[in-house]
Amino acid sequence: MTIIDGKEVAAAMRRGITEQVAAMVAAGERAPYLVAIIVGDDGASQAYVGHKEKCCNEVGFRSTVLRLPSETTQEELLARIATLNADPEVDGFIVQTPLPAHIDEQRVIEAIDPRKDVDGWHPVNVGRMTMGLPAFVSATPDGILSLLEYYKIPTAGRHCVVIGRSNIVGRPIANLLSLKGWDCTVTMCHSRTADLKAVVASADIIVAALGKPGFVTADMVKPGAVVIDVGITRVAAPETKNGWRLVGDVDFDAVAPLCSYITPVPGGVGPMTVISLMKNTLKARRGEVM
Ligand code: NAD
Repeated sequence: MTIIDGKEVAAAMRRGITEQVAAMVAAGERAPYLVAIIVGDDGASQAYVGHKEKCCNEVGFRSTVLRLPSETTQEELLARIATLNADPEVDGFIVQTPLPAHIDEQRVIEAIDPRKDVDGWHPVNVGRMTMGLPAFVSATPDGILSLLEYYKIPTAGRHCVVIGRSNIVGRPIANLLSLKGWDCTVTMCHSRTADLKAVVASADIIVAALGKPGFVTADMVKPGAVVIDVGITRVAAPETKNGWRLVGDVDFDAVAPLCSYITPVPGGVGPMTVISLMKNTLKARRGEVM
């Protein structure tokens, strides 16, 4: 059994991107420029944006965080987006979610120019990805593909069961793994799936993305399966300094001995998300997608 080390893969990708940016700048070209908009003061969102800003600095990107108050109106946010769409210096931008309840998230996503949509959430990018065309792919599923690639895990002809059908994880990873090149036979499960245990037990590759700690138990895992745990839930842990710890959707201790590969939480899929965003921003700077 191999424990997939997301930190190692992310570090290797970070080095690669840093070298490419240094070469661009040495050739007299402008460094990629990523802007993040954050509305309100949600603590987790502030932390995520902080990680993204730090990673931009590490790889040599220019970055700006636009911190807007929680009472920002939808019209004001859309006006900011229009300005970023029109700014030739901005290669890509993201709007951190969740947004305050009075703002329509879908309206906001669809207002972003798909050529600058480095989160890959715009329907144009989702549609292009689904068709196997060049697209900005949402960061978490893209990070999962990078892990499979790095560890040279065979996917062709294998049965992959994805648990969860969200637009940012379950649905895109199910789509991607069914594309030519990955060639999995994919089953997507969700909260209404009948006999889910038996479906998961037939999988060669399990992608758990439902946000329910310890949901995937040993009796659901075929010996030799590859297990990718996307779930991140903060649970109380009085023994830790913070009083909490992060846990995945897989009962790691019981499942790991059965697997060929498994991602831990934390340190598996998590570290890949930010680096995938950097990869997309570099692609946007180079106009490689659209
Ligand atoms: P979501 O809440 O949008 O979707 C959860 C999905 O799970 C839904 O489609 C639902 O149908 C399915 N589901 C819920 N209960 C189920 C059950 N009992 N059986 C089968 N399916 C069930 O969540 P999301 O945004 O896709 O995130 C999923 C998890 O992944 C969360 O823990 C989240 O924190 C984590 N996440 C991690 C990263 C990362 O960087 N590692 C990125 C995004 C999300």
